[in-house]
Amino acid sequence: MQTNTPTNSAEQLESLYGSETFGVKTMKKYLSKDAFRKMMTTIEKGGRLDPTIADEVAQAMMVWAISKGATHYTHWFQPLSEATAEKHDSFVEPDGKGGMICEFTGKSLIQGEPDASSFPSGGIRATFEARGYTAWDPTSPAFIKRTANTATLCIPTAFCSYTGEALDKKTPLLRSMAAVARQATRVLNCFGIEPSVVESNLGAEQEYFLIDRDLYLQRPDLIETGRTLFGCLPPKHQQMEDHYFGSIKERVLEFMAAVDRELWALGVPAKTRHNEVAPGQFELAPLFEPSNVAVDHNVMIMDILERQALKFNLVCLLHEKPYAGVNGSGKHNNWSLSTPELGSLLSPGKTPHSNLLFLTFLASVIRAIDLHADLLRASISKAGNDHRLGAQEAPPAIISIFLGDQLMDIIEQIKHGGAKSSAGKTMMELGVDTLPVLPKDATDRNRTSPFAFTGNKFEFRAVGSSQTCAWPMSILNTIVAETLDEVATKLEPYAGTPEFRAKAMELVTEMVVKHDRVLFNGNGYSEEWVAEAERRGLPHIRTTLEALEVLSRPDTIALFQKYGVLTEAELLARKEIQVESYVKLIDIEAKTCLNMLETIYKPAIAEQMTEICGTVAAIQSAGIRAGLRAATDKAERVGALYDEMLDRTAELASAIEKGCTQAELDCMAAARVTVDTLETIVDADLWPVPTYAEMLNIHSK
Ligand code: ADP
Ligand code: MG
Repeated sequence: MQTNTPTNSAEQLESLYGSETFGVKTMKKYLSKDAFRKMMTTIEKGGRLDPTIADEVAQAMMVWAISKGATHYTHWFQPLSEATAEKHDSFVEPDGKGGMICEFTGKSLIQGEPDASSFPSGGIRATFEARGYTAWDPTSPAFIKRTANTATLCIPTAFCSYTGEALDKKTPLLRSMAAVARQATRVLNCFGIEPSVVESNLGAEQEYFLIDRDLYLQRPDLIETGRTLFGCLPPKHQQMEDHYFGSIKERVLEFMAAVDRELWALGVPAKTRHNEVAPGQFELAPLFEPSNVAVDHNVMIMDILERQALKFNLVCLLHEKPYAGVNGSGKHNNWSLSTPELGSLLSPGKTPHSNLLFLTFLASVIRAIDLHADLLRASISKAGNDHRLGAQEAPPAIISIFLGDQLMDIIEQIKHGGAKSSAGKTMMELGVDTLPVLPKDATDRNRTSPFAFTGNKFEFRAVGSSQTCAWPMSILNTIVAETLDEVATKLEPYAGTPEFRAKAMELVTEMVVKHDRVLFNGNGYSEEWVAEAERRGLPHIRTTLEALEVLSRPDTIALFQKYGVLTEAELLARKEIQVESYVKLIDIEAKTCLNMLETIYKPAIAEQMTEICGTVAAIQSAGIRAGLRAATDKAERVGALYDEMLDRTAELASAIEKGCTQAELDCMAAARVTVDTLETIVDADLWPVPTYAEMLNIHSK
């Protein structure tokens, strides 16, 4: 089915879903019973796929993909850059008689061998050591990537070097999921529960901006760096709070609808769409899924947002901070652990105070976050996010946990000798007979907290909009695995004994008492919190380079090694790549900034000066006085800033020359002040680039 064909029945809409994926529905149709059963076992329970069915699966995948118009397949992976990677091979093989046949073997499905030399490896690989391998991840469905006239079968894979080191983001994620599942299972076993599987789940809410493409193309800063390096706020931006959840403009809604349909066809469970806080800012949220599938799907969402936008003469900006002064974009990572039998292990139930299993998992998460707040902070550090964290809009660079009133009350009770009661749901009467009486949640929300409990999951809100969730989720799973390991080790000797519950409660109490400093229900944006957090000894890490330091600490290396998530070399490589790409990115920004000063702003200001001086001369030669003061005053003001611009340009050039990242940042900020001031006095028709007012407001075409 074409993804853009209108549907007018529930059946049609349902059959659109997943129609472009080799998912459960398709596999059932194309595979033998035996192969289907084996695939499902791997998908649902994990474990290695029986290699004897690889040929059959490959053949079925090819037949299906060709029926969808595909001519090529690719092992699709996520290298250590911000992008995804693909190298296409056609299904065509010579038949030995001068013709060709279509062929796709199990071997080609399971393993690929792209040249690894030009991907970032953080020193793991020298350029001449080229060999790398991709390995099929059968738990994430293969899908069709389509353009107007092409279709390619994309097979999600992990990517490693010839020597076996993970060179991608998926491998450590899968390893961390296995680690946390292993430890959570041990804890559940202590409670006498035998889960079929423990899953780490992720629902990633994606924020983004849209801008008219014609305006975008006039802004080299947006093109080169994804953010505006200059531009002053218009009088009206987000103060009236009229954009958030506002009525969606037709052009934008058409775009969103096209995105949703493409996502549904790809089996991505897109659920929610709405306007965000800043003008020109929006959000898309799919339903949660196993973390590796959700990460793949989020990467696909970002790709589709960008590609679909172009069809509406728009550009989608995924950068964390495209515009100074209005809200930036995040990617809230809703995370939980669950089993098919119990659902979320973070589900409090009606009486959380007596729900010992819940309290054990809750206390474990609290401990993990407190012990490793700096690691979690490192997982979200990148240049774009530095502009966001700590501002009055995004969760601050101090990692703390919001639990809400109900759970905070229980924590207080636990600390003071034992929890006896839970504040329950109450009903809300709205005072109008025709309106329903609403059940009120036990807990309000808190959008200022970087790590908030929201009902039966935690929401890690500090993740940047352009980064993949793979790294933050790998770190979160790993640190929680560590605490669950310790909990299991302490509880196992008492499992099945009469003392078990008392021992478990003792452990919960101990963890809560020791780690409650990380709990904070108040306003995370306030100055008081910064001071209070410092008093509590919580790390407050403001910048990327500072945040990345923790990655090379011996205890971090030991942690990742212990749970088999990353070797020392793999971890250090990731640090090196992040540091290097931060430095490179700031350098690109600085050079773009310099280029715009020299070739765009200076000529425009020169023109303005010529024009005003012409006016001054004309007034003088006309022999009149009126107007001379105004014209001279403007010439003086613009001229002074023009001179100032010369100094700022020279300073920036020298910072670039020296390759000093901090100086580059400072000089860019200083140059911006000069240019933004000029923007407020230079003639509108002489201003050489689109303004914030123009870019932030999307008009119908
Ligand atoms: P919000 O109001 O913050 O947008 P929602 O309930 O709409 O919260 O959920 C946001 C995201 O959280 C969605 O992706 C949703 O599927 C996901 N989510 C819901 N329950 C869980 C859970 N138990 N584990 C992980 N993610 C979840
Ligand atoms: Mg949310």
